Amino acid sequence: MPLDPLTMLTISIALAAAAALYLAVEWRSIREPSLLFWSAGFATISVGSTLALLRSSGFTLIGIWFANGLLVTAHFLFLLGVARFTQTRLSRAWYLIFLTWLVMLLFPDGQLWSKVMLAANSLLVALATLKASFLLRPHGSSLSVGAVQLRYVLLTHGLFYVAKALTVVIPGTLIDLAAFKGEIIQISLVEGAMAIMLIALSMTGTERYRREKEIARLAERDPLTALYNRRALEKRAPRLLTDVSTERPGALLLIDIDNFKLVNDQYGHTAGDRLLIALSEMIRSLLPRNALTARLGGDEFVMLLNSASSERIIELGDALREQFLITASQSFPTSAAVTLSIGATLFDTPPANLSALIEQGDAALYESKRGGRNRIRLTGLTTPG
Ligand code: GH3
Ligand code: MG
Repeated sequence: MPLDPLTMLTISIALAAAAALYLAVEWRSIREPSLLFWSAGFATISVGSTLALLRSSGFTLIGIWFANGLLVTAHFLFLLGVARFTQTRLSRAWYLIFLTWLVMLLFPDGQLWSKVMLAANSLLVALATLKASFLLRPHGSSLSVGAVQLRYVLLTHGLFYVAKALTVVIPGTLIDLAAFKGEIIQISLVEGAMAIMLIALSMTGTERYRREKEIARLAERDPLTALYNRRALEKRAPRLLTDVSTERPGALLLIDIDNFKLVNDQYGHTAGDRLLIALSEMIRSLLPRNALTARLGGDEFVMLLNSASSERIIELGDALREQFLITASQSFPTSAAVTLSIGATLFDTPPANLSALIEQGDAALYESKRGGRNRIRLTGLTTPG
């Protein structure tokens, strides 16, 4: 027979054990608890399937009900893993359902009990799986490709178990649990092996995609202020500046703290860090819509705007200077004032590259430092009127 149940079960044992091992190895490097729950789930399936093998040797209680019990447990472990992954708390009802079912398992009694338990098992697997799939529904639009896969694999698996639960109440059910025969058992075994593979693959993908996204996010942020770094700005600037024209000029502001070293020297490096963070927050709060900002390094920041005008640039620069002066002088009074110098440049054609623009800003910044600091120097276009 092509689908001999014992062969299918042996394949399932091997697949589930491999999945458990693989997810455990992933957990060792990522330390994401959801992977541990999922790995434990597959290990449980592996043990459950091994017990199911005993059914053909006459151990019906262990081979049927213990094995099924472990199958339900495994799906609850999957649900717990998904709850961890989506940072959701499961309500107590879930644990209560699980406990009630455990108690029911202890009282085997006749054919009716078998039918009820079979339906209950399938429903519990369906419930846990569908709930896990539901938890993975997109939060906003932030669901990764891996999580979308996992969501649909779980949904399909859950619906299969709803159908399986329904077959129990249909008269003349094509199932003979003890003899391990019947179309439903055959289909379940094939579905089980497929589900193990697909669920394990999409679980691994789910974590990997999240990790890759996190790495990509970290790679483009300055770790101290969480603003973009220069590389991220270079990547995003062309889109912002494509529609720069005489009617909608673009502008770059290069901002450098004056006498910043004094804060480090007098109050320590951590105090200097706090002032850098405070400045980054001021920049963020004053940043116009559709504008970009980044920390270029040290005490140097940049703002990139479209639809700018010389008045708006001066207004923005002055507001930033004033706010910063108040914070710095109140929090870290120093022998010489810790203020902001700004070099700004206004342009009406999209620049060839960001570096050229930064160089112009740098020249303006140098002039503002040379002119006595705590000022803004604007070069480039001068708007009429
Ligand atoms: P100027 O008025 O000419 O701008 O001089 P300055 O004292 O502000 O010093 P400058 O801009 O030439 O150099 C920036 C200093 O910022 C150098 C370094 O000690 C300090 N610095 C650079 N990165 C960090 C950082 O992440 N944290 C802290 N606390 N200090 C930093
Ligand atoms: Mg400086």
